[in-house]
Amino acid sequence: MLLDHLSAKLRTIEAQSLTRFLRQAESGTAPRQQVRGADGRTRELLMFCSNDYLGLAAEPALREALIEGAQIYGGGSGASPLISGHSRAHEQVAETLGRWLTPHIPEARALGFCTGYMANLAVVTALGDEEAEIFSEAWNHASLIDGTRLARAQVKRYAHGDVAALRELLAASTAKVKLIVSDAVFSMDGDLAPLPALLALAEEFDAWLIVDDAHGFGVLGEHGRGSLEHFGLRSERLILVGTLGKAAGLAGAFVVAHATVTQYLLQAARNYIFSTASPPAVEHALLSSFALIEGDLGKARRANLRQLQARLRVGVEGLLARHPALGWRLAPSDTPVQPLIVGGNAEVMALAARLEREGIRVPGIRPPTVPKGEARLRITLCATHSEADVDQLLSALNAAAADMDKVAA
Ligand SMILES: *Cc1c(COP(=O)(O)O)cnc(C)c1O
Repeated sequence: MLLDHLSAKLRTIEAQSLTRFLRQAESGTAPRQQVRGADGRTRELLMFCSNDYLGLAAEPALREALIEGAQIYGGGSGASPLISGHSRAHEQVAETLGRWLTPHIPEARALGFCTGYMANLAVVTALGDEEAEIFSEAWNHASLIDGTRLARAQVKRYAHGDVAALRELLAASTAKVKLIVSDAVFSMDGDLAPLPALLALAEEFDAWLIVDDAHGFGVLGEHGRGSLEHFGLRSERLILVGTLGKAAGLAGAFVVAHATVTQYLLQAARNYIFSTASPPAVEHALLSSFALIEGDLGKARRANLRQLQARLRVGVEGLLARHPALGWRLAPSDTPVQPLIVGGNAEVMALAARLEREGIRVPGIRPPTVPKGEARLRITLCATHSEADVDQLLSALNAAAADMDKVAA
């Protein structure tokens, strides 16, 4: 009975072309990765789907730092941070992040988490208590949305990028504490939130601005400090959340905010208090990752990313001009997340499957992750892609577009 109930649900998912399944990686994340297919055979795919934007996950320096960290600290942390899980490496990571963000957030301090998902839940639930009202951007990441569902605060949603609508909601609010919550770089679209305008509203209405910089940290700003550096923002109202599993090439996450905020989270954030701290070896290696992000290698890779982005965009725009009947469009993005919006679920999955047969992995993203009718290939670039890699993707897309145009005609 119980199993039948789930099987029926699974059939509904399948009928909508929404079934998700796992692939098994047989090597580390890199532009070319060994991946095991449904047929059990392993082959090399050219990957345009990792969020390891700077290519740091494959850096020998990080591997060595992990080994060194394991030699110092061994395996896991053994307990939550407040019990005994907070190592010297955890402290050094927090110190570095606090220092990096101090130009943007006065008296900045950092708290570490195992994942960005957890960090978002922690901030939104701890600050979003009975006295608060949350103003949540419509395209926010699932973890922020889940945070608002768990929070005791009232929640108001505003349309994507709609600063005027947000202003009206703030003006109408009588809540003692107001929290504006937004992704900095929207994960399925690659566009940036209008953070300066959001911060101006936060100042005007005495609100906090929680910024999720999962896709900006390491990538944006001259020193890779993310969207606050990119926009040159500074305020004690800013609360920055970021993950260290994407451009930083490892794992973990952080909240950086004014010392009073982090002190409060340390007392009140259940996801921080009741969860085992990350492995100290990972934290030890994060220090090497930070040195790379900040140094010449990071600078060169950020410059390379921008060139690859431009090359991809010119190529895809040419394709779209040649095949307008397909109704595809390229999302306006100035980040390594470059979505090609195709439309239907079955259509995008067929396109992704075709690319994969040709040795290129670009995931199809379907509702509910994106709006209905806006299924897309979420192309992500990595600084260690070559121009030839991008050209290979472009020619595969061009061939697919030509064939699909023929079918349509
Ligand atoms: C990936 C992501 C997260 C979650 O970070 P993890 O460390 O992977 O849990 C949070 N927010 C956004 C916008 C993301 O893209």
